[in-house]
Amino acid sequence: MTASTPTKTIQIDNYIKGEYVKGKSGKTFETINPATGKVLGNVALGTADDINTAVAAAKEAFEKGPWPRMSMQERGQVVKRIGDLILERKDELARAETLDTGKPISESSNGDVPRAALNFHFFAQFATSYTEECFVPAASEMHVAVREPLGVCGLITPWNLPLYLATWKIAPCLVMGNTCVLKPAEWTPYTAYLFAEIAQQAGLPEGVFNVVNGFGADGAGEALTEHPDVRSISFTGETSTGKAIMANSAGTLKKLSFELGGKGANIIFDDANLDEAIDTSVRAAYRNQGQICLAGSRLFVHKDVFRKVVDRLVDKVKAIKVGNPLDPKTEMGALISEEHMQKVLSYIEIGKKEGKLLTGGDRLNHLGDGYFIAPTVFEGLSPESRLLKEEIFGPVLPVVPFDSEEEAVALANSTPYGLSSSLWSENVNRCHRVSQQIRAGMVWVNCWFARDLRTPFGGQKSSGIGREGGRYSLEFFSEAKTISYKYSK
Ligand code: NAD
Repeated sequence: MTASTPTKTIQIDNYIKGEYVKGKSGKTFETINPATGKVLGNVALGTADDINTAVAAAKEAFEKGPWPRMSMQERGQVVKRIGDLILERKDELARAETLDTGKPISESSNGDVPRAALNFHFFAQFATSYTEECFVPAASEMHVAVREPLGVCGLITPWNLPLYLATWKIAPCLVMGNTCVLKPAEWTPYTAYLFAEIAQQAGLPEGVFNVVNGFGADGAGEALTEHPDVRSISFTGETSTGKAIMANSAGTLKKLSFELGGKGANIIFDDANLDEAIDTSVRAAYRNQGQICLAGSRLFVHKDVFRKVVDRLVDKVKAIKVGNPLDPKTEMGALISEEHMQKVLSYIEIGKKEGKLLTGGDRLNHLGDGYFIAPTVFEGLSPESRLLKEEIFGPVLPVVPFDSEEEAVALANSTPYGLSSSLWSENVNRCHRVSQQIRAGMVWVNCWFARDLRTPFGGQKSSGIGREGGRYSLEFFSEAKTISYKYSK
């Protein structure tokens, strides 16, 4: 790696009641720079003890502090200031995110960090225009449905988009008047650590926002999901983890929002604008090293254009610049960990046995000890192959031909997941017809990753429970209460 690789090991503490603190056990764990395989930082190992302290701080801030008692407008100003401060520190945050995740700096700088700021700017503004309902069935009677904060909320986030996804939860949670404890993914604690300082500088009262680092099962994550004073869990991560959280939180009956795994189908019909479809399909499969829940990770192409599309796609995949994530020209960086890289390589081995490798297929050893895998394309796999059913979460794309619209829909729906899907066709009737038959929370027609933050975001089937975005987030992070009035004559 280049000279810009850090030389000093950073210390990452928990953040509780407005202060950075060590873990109560005194123990730490290492976070690794995926591009070098070297230690990036030592992280406070949070346990149930630390969760208890953080939840107590959040509970006190909710019950006695100013935050839930401020008006939406006043809270919105603080939330907006957080967004402003993220932008002021965007270069520092982008570099931290890239060092911790291995993603290209161009993505951290132009994607993750601006989006984190937008999450705060959006919810600060959107919440103040949120309207509550009032029902007047007779002149002498009125029913008002108000929304109240829940109390202490638990937020649990994954490693693939650490700051982006944490802030997607923190912003609506705070603006609705809640307090919270964030448990970031153990692989990527760096930006949550920096973010705590930003929240403090923006004027968030102590105890409103807390961070406890540590592991999930048997660790800080599990303790948060079982804590009796935590009213809700907003979780983004693997489907299997969602199931464990649901079981563990049942005893204390929490409100749950789950954004889980995905296995997006990307369908190219023979009447599509092929240039756009191919360019976007490459981004959809390999952005963030393929580690995106919304990735177009299965490509289905009509048989009449299959060869043309696949040949052109493979040429573009071969041209992807894989390398040092801190280099602004890099298009694909390193996978998150040795363990995850081995998992992705094991799928590649299956692909080599069952199908035909068109490009990639190896770890890139010339890039040193980092976890780099060449962007990989397979054809000739059976639709029943594990590469077409399971979430690989890496730069591996199986391509499969189809004959008819019905077959394309059946292929798209043939996994337990149902998060997102793309389809490409110039025929508006077909686009509408097929969109309605795909079992997914989001369908992109002639595009991928197009987002309006007001729209419902979430998955069907094993991809999630509930929706986030706009009013869906505000409703998740609040409780509805009906107040009924009768007027005496
Ligand atoms: P993961 O489920 O392994 O971990 C996510 C978080 O849960 C981490 O903070 C982890 O420590 C914690 N955790 C693990 N076990 C826990 C337990 N028993 N109790 C409480 N917390 C626990 O997921 P990951 O590997 O970090 O992230 C990748 C996954 O996230 C992929 O499946 C991806 O599709 C999914 N994802 C989904 C979305 C979406 O919006 N649907 C977005 C991004 C990522």
